[in-house]
Amino acid sequence: MKFNKALEDIQLYEAGKPIELVVREFGIAPEDVVKLASNENPIGTNPAVAETIVRNAAKAHLYPDDSMFELKAALANLYTVGTENIIIGAGSDQILEFISHALLNETSSVLMSQVTFAMYEIYAKQVGAKIVRTSNYTHKPEEFIEAYKEHHPKVIYICTPNNPTGDATSKEDVLRIINAVDSDTLVVVDGAYMEYAAAKEEKYAIAPRDLLEYDNVIYLGTFSKAYGLGGMRIGYGIAQSGLIRALHKMRPPFNVTTLSLAAALEASKDRAFVEKSVALHQEQIKRYEAFAKEHNIEYIDSYTNFITYVFSEKFDSTKIADALLKKGVIIRNLASYKMNAIRITIGTAKQNDTFFKYFTEIIA
Ligand SMILES: *Cc1c(COP(=O)(O)O)cnc(C)c1O
Repeated sequence: MKFNKALEDIQLYEAGKPIELVVREFGIAPEDVVKLASNENPIGTNPAVAETIVRNAAKAHLYPDDSMFELKAALANLYTVGTENIIIGAGSDQILEFISHALLNETSSVLMSQVTFAMYEIYAKQVGAKIVRTSNYTHKPEEFIEAYKEHHPKVIYICTPNNPTGDATSKEDVLRIINAVDSDTLVVVDGAYMEYAAAKEEKYAIAPRDLLEYDNVIYLGTFSKAYGLGGMRIGYGIAQSGLIRALHKMRPPFNVTTLSLAAALEASKDRAFVEKSVALHQEQIKRYEAFAKEHNIEYIDSYTNFITYVFSEKFDSTKIADALLKKGVIIRNLASYKMNAIRITIGTAKQNDTFFKYFTEIIA
């Protein structure tokens, strides 16, 4: 079978390893596995949301409301935008896919940071677009503007805070990039971890509303991180209505499930859960910073729910990740991003204790 040529150049996305794999391969009991690899919310599922999912189970035979009116109304209210400014996807990943299909082809290029969310490249390559990267993992406006002038990319991805590094780009710098590009280039501002950045430092807080005056900018958000709903697959894009209408042409009918819609709607009403998640995170991440200082390990100041430890030649991230895995601790090795580094999702106090215990043994 001859597949599209574009596929030859695509690396499979390496998803965080599941708990089941560690149970199977190392015979560790599922309750002893500590998963700090996929930036999931360590508090678990919001109990009110879990109850809603169960309550809606009897509606599983019905297709969902394809207008997604209630969830859009809740998001419109949360962000003070119109419902016509919102598109909902099976994770914000799916919105990234719609963007690729709506705007890119073999003649276009996309611009992104040197180390950033792997799916930007994969979705762009699926339609044959060329990838241009800056030479820095942080989003330096001058670098982006220079690369924009040279390559005229059709789409620019700004991941703030950035995954897998954890650093953020200030609102001022994001606006500098946006203001330097003409309206035929779409700027994607991916705010998957924005709840954490906004709580940490005001200058990094970007609200979708701040970008709505531009007809070539889309803000992406997700319920997978601070809202604790990674398993329900709900994300959203917010932009001017013309852009949203175009992206809707790429959307399959009923692209998110009835249960996911109900879960996200319930989650959107519960600010307290998000605040509690962020507060636990802020308290626990201090331990990772202190640990790194104590052991002379470099880390990237994080605006997300994870922290990235960058190793000197003394340590090898692959060896460390493998050794932790054997102990039942799953973290993310960043070797595939060409970094000798690991990304650790900040867990509960107990999960973090386990990480520190084994990590200390391994590096000793
Ligand atoms: C997690 C994540 C997303 C989206 O995740 P979904 O679960 O598909 O909503 C998007 N961008 C970044 C940078 C992420 O880390």
